[in-house]
Amino acid sequence: MPRAEAGTPKWLANKMKAKGLQKLRWYCQMCQKQCRDENGFKCHRMSEGHQRMMQTFIQSPGKFLDAFSREFEEGFMKLMRTKYSRQRVLANTVYCEFISDKNHIHMNSTIWVTLSGFCQYLGRTGKCKIDHTEKGWYVEYIDQEKIKREQELEAKRAYELTEEERQKAEIAERVEKAQAAGLYREAEYTELMREDPDEKIAFKMPEVRLKAEKTEEGEEGAPGPSKPRNLFAELAKQRRAEKAQNNGTVGASSNANGHGEGIVDVSGPDASASASASASFSGQLDRRADEKDKRKLSALERLRLENEERKLKKVKTETNSTPTPAPAPASAVKQEDVEEETWLSEGLVVKVVLKDLAGGKYYKKKGKVTNVPKPFTGDIRMLDSGDVLRLDETHLETVIPNVGGRVRIVKGVHRGEEGVLKAVHLEQFCATVETAAGVREGMQYEQVCKLMADE
Ligand SMILES: [Zn+2]
Repeated sequence: MPRAEAGTPKWLANKMKAKGLQKLRWYCQMCQKQCRDENGFKCHRMSEGHQRMMQTFIQSPGKFLDAFSREFEEGFMKLMRTKYSRQRVLANTVYCEFISDKNHIHMNSTIWVTLSGFCQYLGRTGKCKIDHTEKGWYVEYIDQEKIKREQELEAKRAYELTEEERQKAEIAERVEKAQAAGLYREAEYTELMREDPDEKIAFKMPEVRLKAEKTEEGEEGAPGPSKPRNLFAELAKQRRAEKAQNNGTVGASSNANGHGEGIVDVSGPDASASASASASFSGQLDRRADEKDKRKLSALERLRLENEERKLKKVKTETNSTPTPAPAPASAVKQEDVEEETWLSEGLVVKVVLKDLAGGKYYKKKGKVTNVPKPFTGDIRMLDSGDVLRLDETHLETVIPNVGGRVRIVKGVHRGEEGVLKAVHLEQFCATVETAAGVREGMQYEQVCKLMADE
């Protein structure tokens, strides 16, 4: 029968008939040819092309069967994974969906003879959960990939767990060994004991040494002052020495490498850092106890001491200058805090700067210091009136004489020197004084005061 020409009614009829589902048993998978009836299929089987295809099939039937079966399964499972995932569905429904694609792999070319056989295969291989009812086989997709992922995760977790346990066991074993050797000391919580509350708290972590340093360390004994010490090694060595002294034998686990890892054994390469840190801390405490005598003073402590010393010295000078020291007036104490030394001394000419005294009668008037009964207080005889006032030095000011006048330096390093005023520099508010010891330049006004010769 010649093929109908495209566009003719016959061609259209053939197309329409081919559209629907057709009998599986008249489909030839090798030639991918669907026949519409028994006669047509018979004719196809007799055809030369089919014969040739069958020859190739016979040569390796397994290969073709496997390939077709795999393709069929893949197509079916693709539907299960996408459209029918997470639901229990009649296998026939999926199958109908699958074969609606006309170019699907037909089941008669697979290793499965019937759909139920295929279902059972799926159930057996764990690809689907299957159950049989009156209606037929139901299938439910099992996400093998998800299960696989979960299994992998589980395995990983289990591995980590065992790894952790292994490490713990290893540490425990080392602790036991060290305990047996008498080298291990349990880390315990104690109060922080401080000799001096101002001292800094320092933590020293055990340093990681390079191999080159190790050989150097082999000499033992005295690590250089700049080199960080291995407290562990020292502690371990000390313990070992004690032990040897006590029972005449050296500790069981003496270290061959001389690096002194006696206790460090516990904190081996993969042990937790906390164990070593705590042990190191106890070592630090030991060290501190050793050095408590020669420990340095903290900055704060030093300052306080210096301050006390200074005060002590001052009291001494005061008692020297005044044979009967009376309690200083409040204002004098205040002055003491700001200025350390009094500038007032006998023979100076000073200016009164106390406004309130006697209605301002003495304000800005000059007087001569005739007596200093105690530090910071002077008896002033006023130049004009001859009145004598006892005043605190805070109410007095120095007087700068004319150039050539006699002055005394009353403050600073040259305090007490007497000489002649050589110049006054008004812009810089300072003066130059020539004394027996030399020329003093840049003297502040309050450092220099006029002197009056005794009458
Ligand atoms: Zn064929």
